[in-house]
Amino acid sequence: MNIILLGPPGAGKGTQARHLVETRGMVQLSTGDMLREAKDSGTEMGNRVAEVMAKGQLVTDEIVIGLIREKLDAGAEGGFIFDGFPRTLAQADALGDLLDSTGNSLDAVIEMEVDDAALVERITARSTCGGCGEVYNDITKPIPADGKCSNCGKENDFKRRADDNEESLKTRLMEYYKKTSPLIGYYYAKGQLTKINGLGEIEEVQGAIEAALR
Ligand code: ADP
Repeated sequence: MNIILLGPPGAGKGTQARHLVETRGMVQLSTGDMLREAKDSGTEMGNRVAEVMAKGQLVTDEIVIGLIREKLDAGAEGGFIFDGFPRTLAQADALGDLLDSTGNSLDAVIEMEVDDAALVERITARSTCGGCGEVYNDITKPIPADGKCSNCGKENDFKRRADDNEESLKTRLMEYYKKTSPLIGYYYAKGQLTKINGLGEIEEVQGAIEAALR
């Protein structure tokens, strides 16, 4: 089964994708994570994307489609979860072609609905473990008092993203509404879209996604 998690920054796509990886053995393809890795690698492409990402703008279609193409070639037995991709209509078309050409299909697109006020609150309070990527939130899921990650045990290695500030977030939201939200209509027209409420507790959202995939 191959699915897309669609929703604005901070909707909880990464958190839910991690859960699906654990429970269903799916492979998470997060273009955001791939681009951050490229950025950390210090390559020429990495340096170019770092600036664009910090401002909250979208990286070019060509770069992200190239990243996804490489991963699709490797295949995944449990299927792929596309997290943060596609983000433009051109990327959605490219994904359709790539899946077709590798004999795969898209089984579901889950749109996670969350209102803007909740997004700002979630994102400006967010941090992740440098060891395993577990996501924490100052208000709803604080870092354990002993400073050890509850998932992997790594001590005092929590990171905030360079683009998780109010200024970049404004741009990220604008990019989402202008360039990514048209995908809601695109997949609706193909009969592949399921909307779920992304505002509940993490477990409630997990339940809604499981129900949508049944
Ligand atoms: P979020 O969903 O919280 O904004 P991501 O980690 O998915 O975070 O993405 C972070 C940044 O990486 C984006 O703001 C953008 O600059 C870049 N990016 C990620 N995926 C794509 C994509 N599919 N197309 C273009 N840019 C992307």
